[in-house]
Amino acid sequence: MAIQQQNNKFIHGLGASPGIVVGKAYLLERFKVRLPEKRILSERVKGEVERFLKAIQQSRDQLAEIQEKILDPEVRKHAFILDVHLMILNDQMLIQDTVDTIRKKKVNAEWALDLTLEKLDTAFKAIEDEYLRERRSDLHYVAARIFRNLLGKKHDDITKIKGKVIIVAHDLSPADTLQMNLKHVAGFITDIGGKVSHTAILSRSLGIPAVVGLEVATSLVNGGDLLVIDGDTGEVVINPTEEVSQSFLERNRRVKTMEREVLKYASLRAETRDGVRIRLQANIEMVDEIASARAHGAEGIGLYRTEILYLNRKDLPTEEEHYQTYRRLAESISPASATIRTLDIGGDKFLPNYSMDNEMNPAMGLRAIRFSIKETDIFKVQLRGILRASAHGKLRILFPMISGIEEIRQAKAILEEVKKSLAKAKVLFDHGIEIGAMIEIPSASVTADLLSREVDFFSIGTNDLIQYTLAIDRINEHVSYLYEPLHPAILRIIRGVVQSALQAKIPVAICGEMAAEPAYALVLLGLGLNEFSMNPVAIPKVKKILRMVRFEETQSLVEELFRFPTALEIECYVRNWMAERFPGDFVKCSAKKFKA
Ligand code: PEP
Ligand code: MG
Repeated sequence: MAIQQQNNKFIHGLGASPGIVVGKAYLLERFKVRLPEKRILSERVKGEVERFLKAIQQSRDQLAEIQEKILDPEVRKHAFILDVHLMILNDQMLIQDTVDTIRKKKVNAEWALDLTLEKLDTAFKAIEDEYLRERRSDLHYVAARIFRNLLGKKHDDITKIKGKVIIVAHDLSPADTLQMNLKHVAGFITDIGGKVSHTAILSRSLGIPAVVGLEVATSLVNGGDLLVIDGDTGEVVINPTEEVSQSFLERNRRVKTMEREVLKYASLRAETRDGVRIRLQANIEMVDEIASARAHGAEGIGLYRTEILYLNRKDLPTEEEHYQTYRRLAESISPASATIRTLDIGGDKFLPNYSMDNEMNPAMGLRAIRFSIKETDIFKVQLRGILRASAHGKLRILFPMISGIEEIRQAKAILEEVKKSLAKAKVLFDHGIEIGAMIEIPSASVTADLLSREVDFFSIGTNDLIQYTLAIDRINEHVSYLYEPLHPAILRIIRGVVQSALQAKIPVAICGEMAAEPAYALVLLGLGLNEFSMNPVAIPKVKKILRMVRFEETQSLVEELFRFPTALEIECYVRNWMAERFPGDFVKCSAKKFKA
């Protein structure tokens, strides 16, 4: 029997779904097949073509079988992606090109398919075929399956996983995750992927801890290794010693106890000791999350992200789908309100059936409101859905990635057109529906005084505001140390936006993750913000801290912060300030780091 090494190897990735778990690794080596490249004799061509077509048929049968076996309704919601994979498998271009290559070049099927894939990859954006223009990753998931069938490699039967395991993969295809019996999955870790990858989205919605973007997980982890994963911090330890796993588990117990303890605050009023009321709302992506938002004490939905409606499917959502979804949202959150953000697609999320050129800088490319203004038809369908749903509860519309006045005016003009056509057709909707602008691009923040005349409210998106102001890619782990919410530039920008909103007498909220960190929440309060939206789980702990301070003291704290020239000094000043007041809850900044 192999002796398990206890080597405590730490690796770091992106925490994609929170929670700490210890478990045995289950290695999926989907993408790690070595492809033989062989020239073949003319008389073997026919047989080779047949071998290829057989592998295609096997792949189809396997996917159809997976599809049939999905019983869990929660998992079934994500299953339409398998249809896309089946369509790729039926695609004549993929099949014919490979067959032609076998015939003309007299090479084995693996080599021929690999050549076809290379071609498709480079020519991806120009492909006419509507299915192959879908996600490139889907093409690769399908190809990996065909290769394994060609090579006679067994597909790990992940339907039969026993016990609780942590799945380790280079990347997880939707077909992989959908066929797992998720009751046996304690966690996921992957080499690649960001916070919006399939793995991340699915694991968050299923509440399974996950770390993505580890780069080396599949090279360092062997099947059966013991792993500790922390879906909050992105830490993974391979073969931890008893001491290390105990320390993680202890942390997990502390976090859980704290969560239980702070949950008591969920039902209390969010107000400071001197009676300043703060509105705490939730950021969600699915109507089903409203239960969690309520349980954590949210007073409404401050940000409803709508991208999920468009992702992982081959067509676009219809007006009726939009309407039904937003109607359910409005009715479930009533009498509170929900702020629906229009499509924020682009960057690393793109639409099927829409060929976005391979952009050099997708974060700065054709995305969010720019996309909606260009693709007016897609935009109007969503706006009609929102407006119709506004007859069933209190909804607000939020436009993402506004960079200046022209964009907001264009978006409003399109909204007006949609309103007119609905009114003409005598369709009920809220004629006075409020519209807002996300303030997440530096140009919007410095022209907030001008923008404030165009909208009913602002919502500051610090996730992107920090990215664009400090030029830090928010999902690039190599520069994450520079992602500093308390950077002097960010504080000055937020102060300016709040002042503009106050002058224009419009409400300003914050919906970036910054608000979910208690220390930052106090700074935001001192900066004059009193409407925070965050992931539901964070609400009780933010409420707890808000109830422990006086508004006036947070204002004095913020005044002090403007004295410091660096983010580190500001951060340390805030941490020490909190540790002094609430020694049981916060620790001091380490003296070595703190030079102020
Ligand atoms: C933000 O940018 O702060 C934000 C809330 O939007 P998202 O994270 O969806 O980009
Ligand atoms: Mg954003």
